[in-house]
This record gives sequence, structure tokens and C-alpha cells, in this order.
Amino acid sequence: MFRIYCDNKGCGKDMEPLLNINTNDVECTECGRTIKSITSFTKSQMKSIGQIKRDEKAKQAFSVQCRSCMKESAPKLGDKNEIRCSVCNHHLDYLSAPYAHAVREFLLTRQKNPATVSVASVNVAPKVNSTVK
Ligand SMILES: [Zn+2]
Ligand SMILES: [Zn+2]
Repeated sequence: MFRIYCDNKGCGKDMEPLLNINTNDVECTECGRTIKSITSFTKSQMKSIGQIKRDEKAKQAFSVQCRSCMKESAPKLGDKNEIRCSVCNHHLDYLSAPYAHAVREFLLTRQKNPATVSVASVNVAPKVNSTVK
């Protein structure tokens, strides 16, 4: 994760900002404002490691179909930070490296900030989204 100093007046905090993929702006997680000094190179790096602001669509992007049990679910981390199926515990070692990395970062971030990142359940994520309003 990139740590950056917020360049907004009155903030100036050092934090891990998030890329808003809808606006392509990088947002300070302390003050919520856009940090303008981020290069497009850094933005694309943030995107590739999954350091992005999560919305409903992004959450669903981490739903993976397991080749062992054929269930689609949000993956979980094993003892060695490997990505496992949350249904049958099969090691999802066929995920592409960038995707596996993004999933891992996402899960680790959530473990660190369970209160601030509210996401779909780690348990079996039903394919049919019943929360659509
Ligand atoms: Zn800030
Ligand atoms: Zn499985």
C-alpha cells in the first residue's frame, strides 16, 4: 500500500489514500478530500494492487468461483496468507498473481480495520444479491 502525505491545507496527514475509480481521483482517508499531487503512474499502480475505494461493484469483483466445489464466494486467507475458498477451504492457486495480490491486500486491510471497511460477508457470498434496493 502506498503511504502518502495529504497535500490539503489543514490535513497534511500521512495515510494510505484510496483511488476512486469512478473519478480517477485519489482521496485522503483522513479528510476525504482529493489529493492532487498524485501522478497517473501512481494511480495505475494503486489500481493494480487494489488500493481503491470500495463500492458495491468493487466488492463483488472479489467473488471467485472455486474449481473444487464450484461455489462462488468471497475468498479468505489461509495461515500463510494464501487465498482459499471460504466454502471448502481449497487453495485457489490458479488465480492470477495480480488478482491474488489484490484480494490479499483487500482481506488484510479489512482484518486491520474491521470497523471502517464494511464489506460483504467473508462467508459464503450468495450469487444472487438480495440486498439490491
Ligand atoms: Zn487529508
Ligand atoms: Zn471451494
